Amino acid sequence: MRYFPAFLDIEAEPVLLVGGGETAARKLRLLLKAGAAVTVVAAEAVEEIAQLARDGAVVWRRRGFRAGDVEGRRAVWAAAEDDEADRRVAEAAKAAGIPVNVVDRPDLSTFIVPAIVDRDPVVIGISSGGTAPVLARRLRARIESLVPAGLGRLARFAEAFRGAVEAKVPDFSARRALWERVFDGPIGAAVLEGDESGARERMVDLVNRDAAGREDSGVVRIVGAGPGDPDLLTLKALRHLQDADVIVYDKLVGPDILDLARRDAERLYVGKSRGCHSKSQDQINALLLAEARKGRRVVRLKGGDPFIFGRGGEEKAYLEARGVAVEVVPGVTAAAGCAAATGIPLTHRGVSQAVTFLTGHAADGEPDLDWAGLAQLGSTLAIYMGVSTAGVISRRLIEHGFDPATPVAVIENGTLPEQKVARATLAGLEAALEAAGIKGPALIVVGEVARLGAASALAEEVTALAV
Ligand code: SAH
Repeated sequence: MRYFPAFLDIEAEPVLLVGGGETAARKLRLLLKAGAAVTVVAAEAVEEIAQLARDGAVVWRRRGFRAGDVEGRRAVWAAAEDDEADRRVAEAAKAAGIPVNVVDRPDLSTFIVPAIVDRDPVVIGISSGGTAPVLARRLRARIESLVPAGLGRLARFAEAFRGAVEAKVPDFSARRALWERVFDGPIGAAVLEGDESGARERMVDLVNRDAAGREDSGVVRIVGAGPGDPDLLTLKALRHLQDADVIVYDKLVGPDILDLARRDAERLYVGKSRGCHSKSQDQINALLLAEARKGRRVVRLKGGDPFIFGRGGEEKAYLEARGVAVEVVPGVTAAAGCAAATGIPLTHRGVSQAVTFLTGHAADGEPDLDWAGLAQLGSTLAIYMGVSTAGVISRRLIEHGFDPATPVAVIENGTLPEQKVARATLAGLEAALEAAGIKGPALIVVGEVARLGAASALAEEVTALAV
């Protein structure tokens, strides 16, 4: 290791920054965040620096650098963006034995600064040892996407409880186990979600319970996995997948998405078909409850969005009624995913001012829908689970006033490599599905917008214009 990683305490300490450009302004922002007493030396400065000087937040010496400027400083930053000037700053600082950093010039510096992920008070520094700053920055972007935005809040929350926990749970390893449960369980989740009062209540409860030697309960995250393309997962969904002890998933969740989960997480399939008989909703509820009660971090992974034809609401109510903490993470619903993947806008100025999400699922042959109401509404229809009832849906819509020539698009396996698109008229819908061999999962879009948008490059376009 060429450089020793360390964090510098410069709160209220005198530091020098040479330079007045954008680069200097960026450094200045960080130095001020760390609470340093900054003197800027620059003949000219960008407005941001000038304003900070007017506000008294920094001292600005409006002139060129003099060697004496380094005297009495804890550290010196050179950001003059002028080789000769930066070199003079570095030499003066080195002669005075003061640590100096020259922006992007490790060869002139006695210390280098890392790329940072800032979740104050948690800060992650990444360094390539001066070899490849761009690589370090790219790594930072990846870490940035994985570290929750509220992590700093969580650290401050923990700090507020440190004394109390130490007093209540004197044993070191018991205390460490308790903190692990706090950070990985429902309390950590609540703080990250911004529910600090809820988290405080649970924390008090946990500390008292732990002092009495009782077990904590786990958490269930009901997570939307999106329409299929793993790139359409949310960052939060990805984080929860990588944190889960057990993942309870449906048929719509593909292997590419499961691959993103923690390697040693247990995976429990509860979808329909696949030979074995499917689990009933009651059995799924009971399974989630049992897993949570083992104190595990459970991810309940569902296709699309868990609150759109996903029964997420039932699972949430069931678990919460039994005292289990539940968090819901939205996902890209099939309608949004299929629309984007085919270029069909669900609403479009002057064409459709509303969109209705419906289920074509029928308990006994015919979906229980308000056909007349739908006709009246005149909105785009996004029909889920409608392949097997497409014939009756199109007949009812036409009977209740839809134009038989209304354009329809059917998107099967939307956003996935095997996506298939069929276009038809409302009257020709059933025949078109037949011709294209569409079995589902597929989304049916009914309305003038279905005329818009070309098939995506991934799609195998099947045009069936039967009337
Ligand atoms: N909660 C899910 C919907 C579950 S219902 C969501 O928000 O998307 C299952 C239905 O969703 C399927 O029958 C189909 O109509 C639709 N669906 C889900 N994924 C799809 C996909 N990739 N392409 C087309 N339709 C899809």
